[in-house]
Amino acid sequence: VDAEAQHLAKVMRAKPGDEVSLFDGSGQEFTARVSAIGKSTVELEIVERRQTDRELKQALTLAVSLPKGDRQKVLVEKLVELGVTRLIPLDTAWSVAEGTPAALLRLRRQVIEASKQCGRNRLMGIAEPLSLQSLIQQASPLAATAPAEGASAPPTFHAPLARSRLTTERCVLAHPSGVPFASSNQTGPAIVAVGPEGGFTDDEVAAAATAGWEIVSLGPRILRIETAALALAALLAKQ
Ligand code: SAM
Repeated sequence: VDAEAQHLAKVMRAKPGDEVSLFDGSGQEFTARVSAIGKSTVELEIVERRQTDRELKQALTLAVSLPKGDRQKVLVEKLVELGVTRLIPLDTAWSVAEGTPAALLRLRRQVIEASKQCGRNRLMGIAEPLSLQSLIQQASPLAATAPAEGASAPPTFHAPLARSRLTTERCVLAHPSGVPFASSNQTGPAIVAVGPEGGFTDDEVAAAATAGWEIVSLGPRILRIETAALALAALLAKQ
């Protein structure tokens, strides 16, 4: 990859003979030795290959109405560190930031940077943006329970959701007037929805509740989007 090769050669100032650690984004880690450095390429010789599992025991999906600007970077960085499996940019009535192709590209780049920093070897998926309505249709405890074909396959980096129903044990929507969040003895995949600065509308909350989602509160203070997302990710990652 050009960007990584340039980083290795120009920023890390790698020289032939140096040993480096690599990961492929799907669970494999490598020790490799630099054999040659070109203008925008670095040749490496693999010395050792390891399959190391650093993932959560159960898939954890965060569907978040993205905050603006640099706050997206903070959100992505911390969700990667906490082991979240997939981030879905959530489109709601009062969402402001758009999940444009350029924005998704930027988020995926940030996933790689955060993974390098925290030693995670599997990339958190950045899904295509999804409306809250579609999310509720695809992941609801009270919807038809048979998962569509392929629904249980692990999410890929680009994680398209079309055609598959998300298999999940726990569907949680964060809302200040919900019931206090409680941990559960049940283990299983979980999905969390976090709203925009303007919050979810009453209709959105009602639609989620009707579909069997838990509407949970994180206390009497209003948290920013990324604080609510990270708090729930940390609480659910523990289970
Ligand atoms: N005025 C908005 C409201 O009443 O929902 C505040 C929105 S808050 C800045 C952004 C999102 O973070 C909310 O839609 C919700 O998902 C989550 N959130 C913030 N504070 C929360 C709390 N105390 N309990 C549960 N969720 C919260």
